[in-house]
Amino acid sequence: MSDCLFCKIIKREIPASIVYEDDHVLAFNDINPQAPLHALVVPKRHIDSLNALSPEDDAIVGEVVRRAAAIARDKGYGDRGFRTVFNTNAEAGQTVFHVHLHLLAGRGLRWPPG
Ligand code: AMP
Ligand code: ZN
Repeated sequence: MSDCLFCKIIKREIPASIVYEDDHVLAFNDINPQAPLHALVVPKRHIDSLNALSPEDDAIVGEVVRRAAAIARDKGYGDRGFRTVFNTNAEAGQTVFHVHLHLLAGRGLRWPPG
């Protein structure tokens, strides 16, 4: 996806503050953080949203989720707590159509969310 913002970050065409990378997953700090830790964990392979997932994506979704938890633990938030969110389409506030898991931690997070 040549016009996808997160694909451009993955290809290093746009800079980002990268916190983790492997062959399948990239994690970087959100440019507009909503908590002391606010990272985005993304599959390197472009997927528009959760609505586009197929059974072949089960492994990468698992990797993304487990990586978010590992980053939270590494940064000391495993016991305190952290929130993980996938926004899908307009009413949920999705603005970038490349699947990304928000990882938020470091402050009290209210429920229900706004
Ligand atoms: P969503 O609204 O769920 O689609 O989340 C998109 C997120 O991407 C927002 O939290 C933005 O702040 C974040 N974002 C947009 N552009 C960048 C960028 N260049 N680098 C890092 N995060 C970004
Ligand atoms: Zn993309």
